[in-house]
Amino acid sequence: MTNEPSPVPRPGEFTPGRPILFRGATVLSMDPGIGVLEGGDVLVRGERIEQVGHDLAAPAEAVVVDAGGGILMPGMVDTHRHMWQTALRGLGADWTLSQYFVFYYLNWGKIFRPEDIHAGNLLAGLEALDAGVTTTVDWSHGLRTPEHGDAAVEALRSLPGRFVLAYGNIFGAPWEWAAAPEFRSFVDRNFASRDERLGLQLAFDVTGDEQFPERGAFAAARELDLPVTTHAGVWGATTDASIRLMWDHGFMNPKVTYVHATTLSEDSYQRIAASGGHVSVSTESEQSAGQGHPPTWRLRKHGIPVSLSMDSSVWWSADLFSAMRATLSADRAREHLEAHAAGETVVHNKLRARDVVEYATMGGARALGLQDVIGSLTPGKKADLVLIKNDRSPAMFPVLHPYGHVVFQAGRADVHTVLVDGTLVKYRHELLSPQLERAREAVGATVSYARGELGEQAWRQAREPEIPETELIPNPYTYSEYRGEGVAVRHTDA
Ligand SMILES: [Zn+2]
Repeated sequence: MTNEPSPVPRPGEFTPGRPILFRGATVLSMDPGIGVLEGGDVLVRGERIEQVGHDLAAPAEAVVVDAGGGILMPGMVDTHRHMWQTALRGLGADWTLSQYFVFYYLNWGKIFRPEDIHAGNLLAGLEALDAGVTTTVDWSHGLRTPEHGDAAVEALRSLPGRFVLAYGNIFGAPWEWAAAPEFRSFVDRNFASRDERLGLQLAFDVTGDEQFPERGAFAAARELDLPVTTHAGVWGATTDASIRLMWDHGFMNPKVTYVHATTLSEDSYQRIAASGGHVSVSTESEQSAGQGHPPTWRLRKHGIPVSLSMDSSVWWSADLFSAMRATLSADRAREHLEAHAAGETVVHNKLRARDVVEYATMGGARALGLQDVIGSLTPGKKADLVLIKNDRSPAMFPVLHPYGHVVFQAGRADVHTVLVDGTLVKYRHELLSPQLERAREAVGATVSYARGELGEQAWRQAREPEIPETELIPNPYTYSEYRGEGVAVRHTDA
């Protein structure tokens, strides 16, 4: 290495085939054999990571990125996001889960046209990439027709990220649509050859009906060799009965993702653990919508593998920094409350910052069966990586605890560079994709259309759900002024 300051490469210099060398980062490899490197280098050649180490020799034709002061980590993985709902970003900020169900499942989900699904996916995908989330499972349960599915696929394939379409349709019975010839031809049309840029899963919930009508949907998944993702352990919706039925009929296996898995018994967790299933924890969703307390504090005790997810941008966003932070806090909060209930104090935090970074990277890769492809900065793996670096941010130095820095200090505005398959997607804090303008127009059209379909009253009610009057607890204390004989001075005006 020389001391000559090298010029900052321009985006146009990252031409296909040129190796990229990241120089001098704190490297969170998430590979136990490599660990954390201070002042580490990562060399990317083609689609893959070629070398991770110190003072790597720069190939003559390499583009060198000064990553000093930054943290280089694997691209994050979101294992459950209803991307189509991003078209109505933030509308449901004050909803409960039942209000969400009434809005999408009962009343308005059915008005979404293929172009609305396309618009939501486009914006959701760009947002994820911008935030350093290089792989997203699109839990797409608004696919009323295969044409809606085609629109979802078209949007995902047009984006420079890695996605998995989890095909779902809440307006039909999964045992019907999953077995229908139209669905088979959708699969043939779009997934004739499987690749690592766009995967396919089946997405449906198990109601707990003792007749187990979902058997047909599981059978279709088995026949097509597709993983299943299912909302499980959702208070008041999917319970232990769903898990028992899946177990009894032989459909619990390592290719099932249980989303939320909050309000379940120890017995259900044992069945998930024994069958090798994965849980996708959506902490912000669980805390705010009410599926149950985020379950990592219980999953850990069963050794159940965890990944993270953001659920829906009708409330939240694509920001896995937020997911990591919320998950670590929710786990610790629960540990404290449990200890206090027993008259004790927590003296060691069991869940560590490293653990939630693991959940957000390798945890997601494992849930998708991509643990040998992505999830860590390991030579030979696909180069999906994120450089967190922001020289203008007072929160980006000093970096003393790199995992803690990612979880509690950094945010999506600090995402400097993103690569997917070795291709530059974001650089110097700017998305390089020209699709943002298109997404803005398309989502604008969807919002106008949806608002017209709902009418102003329903639209307003959706945004501002009713709130019942709450009475304040009577307070015997009043305060007037400090007179030297006590802070709280009883004061009567009568
Ligand atoms: Zn969900």
